Amino acid sequence: MQFNYSFEVASLLFMLLILIHFMAVRQFPTAKTRVFRALLIVSIAECVFNVLSSIGLANAEFVPQIVNEVLAFVFFAFEGLSLLMIYKYTVVISELDPKQKKWAALAGLIPAVFFYVFLLLTPFIGFYYYFQDGVYHQGRGANFGYFYVMLFFALNFVMLIARRKVINMRERNIIYFYTATAFIAIIVQYFNRTILLSSFGNSVIIIMVYLAMQNPNDLLDTVTGIGNEAALELQLKDALGRSQEGTVIVIKIRQYQQMNMLFGTENGNMLMEEVGQYLFNLGGKFHVFRSESDTFAVLSDKGHYRGIVKSIEDRFAEEWRIEENHILIDYAIVIMHYPKDFKSIPEFFGIKSYLLSAASGSAVKDPIETDEKMIEGYYRQNKIEMILERAIRERSIQVYYQPIYSLQEKRIVSLEALSRLFDEELGYIPPSEFIPIAEKNGDIVRIGEIVLEECCKFLSKHVLSNMSLGIRSIQVNISVAQCMQQNLKEAILPILQKYHIPSSMIVLELTESTAINAPVLMEHHMKELGNAGISFAMDDYGTGNANCSYLVRFPFREVKIDREMTWAYFNNETARVVIGNEIKTMQKLGIPMVVEGVEKLEQSEEMERLGVEYIQGYYYGRPLPEMECLRYIRNFNSTPEDYGR
Ligand code: C2E
Ligand code: CA
Ligand code: CA
Repeated sequence: MQFNYSFEVASLLFMLLILIHFMAVRQFPTAKTRVFRALLIVSIAECVFNVLSSIGLANAEFVPQIVNEVLAFVFFAFEGLSLLMIYKYTVVISELDPKQKKWAALAGLIPAVFFYVFLLLTPFIGFYYYFQDGVYHQGRGANFGYFYVMLFFALNFVMLIARRKVINMRERNIIYFYTATAFIAIIVQYFNRTILLSSFGNSVIIIMVYLAMQNPNDLLDTVTGIGNEAALELQLKDALGRSQEGTVIVIKIRQYQQMNMLFGTENGNMLMEEVGQYLFNLGGKFHVFRSESDTFAVLSDKGHYRGIVKSIEDRFAEEWRIEENHILIDYAIVIMHYPKDFKSIPEFFGIKSYLLSAASGSAVKDPIETDEKMIEGYYRQNKIEMILERAIRERSIQVYYQPIYSLQEKRIVSLEALSRLFDEELGYIPPSEFIPIAEKNGDIVRIGEIVLEECCKFLSKHVLSNMSLGIRSIQVNISVAQCMQQNLKEAILPILQKYHIPSSMIVLELTESTAINAPVLMEHHMKELGNAGISFAMDDYGTGNANCSYLVRFPFREVKIDREMTWAYFNNETARVVIGNEIKTMQKLGIPMVVEGVEKLEQSEEMERLGVEYIQGYYYGRPLPEMECLRYIRNFNSTPEDYGR
């Protein structure tokens, strides 16, 4: 039998080229890549032996029969193996659970055992092929070989269909495509047994997989050249899948945005490259990743992570160069051990960003090593997120009202609306806990609407019809996230109109951090809503690093001195001088003040002496539910002499 092996030679060249590229470019040692490497090597071996065997058969008169017999045998052995590898690749990207994996392995192994038993018998019983007078003939079982090939492609197909939800569309389409191509190659081969096409089929598969699913650039960060988030994910998935233990060190560069703004993106990128390179040299080839623009991750053994963290701290204690400037980088480190701290990828990303945002709020530099309490905190946050969503859906978020007392008029003249969240299991969840969560996930916008609507209902029901109550306005908190909306006006005014509330009765409280983070939008909203008659209070004055300049730029009707500031005033001599001066400045600017956190008569008297206009504090009333608050105000305003609790 004479074979035409020109397709095989061409395929061999293609596969060798891919092998060279594969070896030259950094590959992350993921399960996928390991199987691909095996497939590539086995396919090349299969192809080499196919060609050698064809040459040997074409020159049977010079080549001893035993040599041809060995070549044919080895070729068949590799052919069986390459099919198994293709199947294995499909299994790997199908992300099966351990039990499914066992079944999948069994489904591949049983036909393979048959194939190899027949192959081992072939030299004796001539099953796939036999030699007669040095000439190669196909055996009785040759068609079983075709059947075996078809079976594997059928298995691939079944796997694809069963796992279509896990395998992404692009990968799925590629597998469909190459399976179809290989299928056609087999059919052609079946009817033209002298044209060799098996390696051609393999090379089509390998090229497609390499281009589409094994492109190593998919896993590299374009700026730093180290692994990207997808690479980190794959590595972790791999390690978790094999029940390995290890440690992830996450390093977040704190003022990344500011540095980019200050030095330009290009220089910012160069700095990130330098940091990435430093970590790369420290952590090793496959262990360093840039997972977000400002976050790096280093994978280490449990035994070595302390040393790595120490080196990172030492390096970051020194300056980095950015153009001609030498700067210190502010950073936070989070250390997580797996599988103790996380057992899945979503858990890893969730806990990581939970801890990082906790770290970014504190000034503490020490690395944060994940402990049980933190993980509990993370799960509590998740739970609160769910509770919050349900509360929004069912509109079960409550609004409490806290009196604001006028020192001049000696009565309650206004109220601040404060959200309250109760849960059967967790009990009272304070706003200091759920508001930041709602700000982060965007729920704050809906909460703001609910609170505003409740306030309007309250005003319409109890205040508009009863002006003798003495309440002139309700103050509603607006968070940064709400201010980031383009159409804040459209979110607010229709609610007022619906309940016929004069806009002068609504005071929106904006915080210093809004003024810092979104000054332009804030100015825009203040103008638009101000034109509609709504006024504004600057909340939390003294907590950020804003100063009086904001008060000049933005038309605030009043400034609220934060309760921490108030307490500092009464507890600390220096603070007393500083805050006393700020109060004087504000008076000179003609801006009225609300002092929060006043809990004692002496404190109120001191503020009165300083010339403060309004007090909001437990001394004049705690936040209360609607009806209780109304009763409280009625009592209070009719007998202002014996105020207090
Ligand atoms: P805030 O706007 O500064 O509200 C005043 C906080 O101080 C309230 O805490 C109030 O209960 C508390 N407070 C008032 N007087 C005293 C006092 O004399 N002693 C003490 N110890 N505390 C006093 P609360 O209700 O826990 O709210 C905390 C923060 O959560 C608020 O601070 C506000 O920033 C935010 N928040 C509450 N409800 C909402 C809301 O509906 N929307 C938005 N965006 N934020 C809200
Ligand atoms: Ca407030
Ligand atoms: Ca406040």
